[in-house]
Amino acid sequence: MSLPSDVVEVLEIVKRHNSWRRFECINLIASENVMSPLARALYINDMMHRYAEGKPGKRFYQGSLFIDLIETKTSELLSRLFDVKFVEVRAISGSIANAIAFKALANAGDTALVPALQSGAHISHTGFGVLGALGIKHFELPFDLESWNIDVDKSVKLIESLKPRLVVLGASLYLFPHPTKQIADAAHSIGARVVHDVAHVLGLIAGKTWPNPVHEGADAATASTHKTFPGPQGGLIMTNSDEVYKLVSNNVLTFVSNHHIHRLPATAVTAIEMMHFGKDYAEQIIRNAKAFAEELTAQGLTVVAEHLGYTASHIVAIDVRKFGGGAKVARILEDANIIANKNVLPWDKPQDASNPSGVRFGVQEMTRFGMREGEFREIARLVADIVVRGFEPLTIRKKVIELRKEFTKIRYGFDAWENIGGKVYSFIDLSM
Ligand SMILES: *Cc1c(COP(=O)(O)O)cnc(C)c1O
Repeated sequence: MSLPSDVVEVLEIVKRHNSWRRFECINLIASENVMSPLARALYINDMMHRYAEGKPGKRFYQGSLFIDLIETKTSELLSRLFDVKFVEVRAISGSIANAIAFKALANAGDTALVPALQSGAHISHTGFGVLGALGIKHFELPFDLESWNIDVDKSVKLIESLKPRLVVLGASLYLFPHPTKQIADAAHSIGARVVHDVAHVLGLIAGKTWPNPVHEGADAATASTHKTFPGPQGGLIMTNSDEVYKLVSNNVLTFVSNHHIHRLPATAVTAIEMMHFGKDYAEQIIRNAKAFAEELTAQGLTVVAEHLGYTASHIVAIDVRKFGGGAKVARILEDANIIANKNVLPWDKPQDASNPSGVRFGVQEMTRFGMREGEFREIARLVADIVVRGFEPLTIRKKVIELRKEFTKIRYGFDAWENIGGKVYSFIDLSM
């Protein structure tokens, strides 16, 4: 029997997505990345069909013999990589990691202090997101444009006067590390706990170009495992506190029944890749982001935080108010196969959300495909051709495809063919 036409249509859609996003686009979405060939091949395994509620050794279902081994191993590898005592790996995403941590450390009716949405916070830190759903009241931490960071003095005063149960740090437009130590000292002095959300910068922490907030006094750090950390989509929570770990682990089941177990072997392999290649990878990201920001500026675009050297992360943000706003600019860049997202900047009002001032770029994925400073300067010129000089996006698209063609091999990770000692593990589907 030939395949039903609906099946063919489904296959075609995936095929077109794969070839477009993988081979023809320059991906600058700051929250995305790609797994290494080995991690990706391992991702498809029978664990995707299984349940293992509970913790290793204490499951509610039978059949978890090897799941227990891989979950324990993954958690141990991540503990070693991040030099922390505990890593809870059952959160299936960064938002779920936040939900688990917030619920573990605060109750409905309690107060939390969170970064302002306009200063780059994630939806899960807001009333629309996890915090609101948990009934936790929240107030925003003051933001200081001069340092493009949380205003420490005003925040400490607010912590002392409001006496929140929880203080959240971290952001999605995350250019410079939030001041964990000062905030944690103030929070701890009034008995509050600090959760620092490092969803975006986990790979930079692995590569030691960004501080680990747990080492600086945060009670817990939450993260996604697929942004600068180039693993499968997932989340984690790390802590050095026995008590916090226990609270967190006991709250997993509220939000997660099956924990998408098949991602854990790929997460483990990615952790090992970061032990081997993380430093080179993270340092190249930082160099690329700076080169990209410098060239965008030289080409007539307004990169935020110029007076601070633009960025200390993988993210570069431009203010495109004079070019029609973030929505328009992100759309015409897409016409040229340059993929980025519109983003609110600190001066935007809530009503500006559909056409905010900014566009956010992340250099991590194209860095993983081997691009360096020269390529990022070239991308900056292509962005300016479209946005500043008003060239037809379709003509720029040809140049984008030409440039992208040279960078299809994933670096800073294990190649499935070359790096398993010449041995082909037949259960791994290497044809992907
Ligand atoms: C992306 C992000 C998250 C959520 O991540 P998911 O894995 O998509 O659920 C949480 N916090 C911050 C700051 C983020 O940027």
